Amino acid sequence: MFNLVIFGPPGSGKGTQSEKIIEKYQFAHISTGDVFRENIKNNTALGQSAKQYIDAGELVPDEITIKMLKAENDKFPHAQGVILDGYPRTVPQAEALDTILEADAEKVDIVIQLEVPEETIRDRIAHRAKTSNRTDDEAEKVERRINEYFTKTIQVIPYYDAQGKVHKINGVGDIDAIFEHIVQAIESIR
Ligand code: AMP
Repeated sequence: MFNLVIFGPPGSGKGTQSEKIIEKYQFAHISTGDVFRENIKNNTALGQSAKQYIDAGELVPDEITIKMLKAENDKFPHAQGVILDGYPRTVPQAEALDTILEADAEKVDIVIQLEVPEETIRDRIAHRAKTSNRTDDEAEKVERRINEYFTKTIQVIPYYDAQGKVHKINGVGDIDAIFEHIVQAIESIR
């Protein structure tokens, strides 16, 4: 199984590019943000434990997130590949992912890092907020999410850089052109 991590700040286009990757490669998709939102909507125990953090624009604690990721990953034993979208966001999450994959003799094959300047992210999320209905797309929460990304989540990159897995891609510009660069990166290691 091909395990692809799509990485980038909020509003960097991870969701949009994941859709295009799925269309081309028929990979399964695990968006931890989507799983949390679905659980909040259905008022599950997981949703109840994650809600306060998400509403505040903070990261959900690793213990909760890792357990959820493991359960999600078990849902796709026969997929050709899996896109991890929004996970890992901390180094302990990245380490836990390695352990989960190693148990199935698998590994993270590639990390696609979408690079988008902070100002562009703010503009994009402000635009998305008009229609997204996301409780964390309000300006003040957005600032906290951006801060979480640049203080905690970005530390995941050196972890994967040390393994030579990171492909940095400019996430500003034409969606199809960005996707072409992602495809080139995937094809370069497949
Ligand atoms: P996203 O849709 O990926 O922007 O995620 C929305 C929110 O869900 C984040 O701001 C976090 O509160 C939470 N979340 C999603 N994925 C993770 C993760 N891997 N670790 C911690 N919190 C997460």
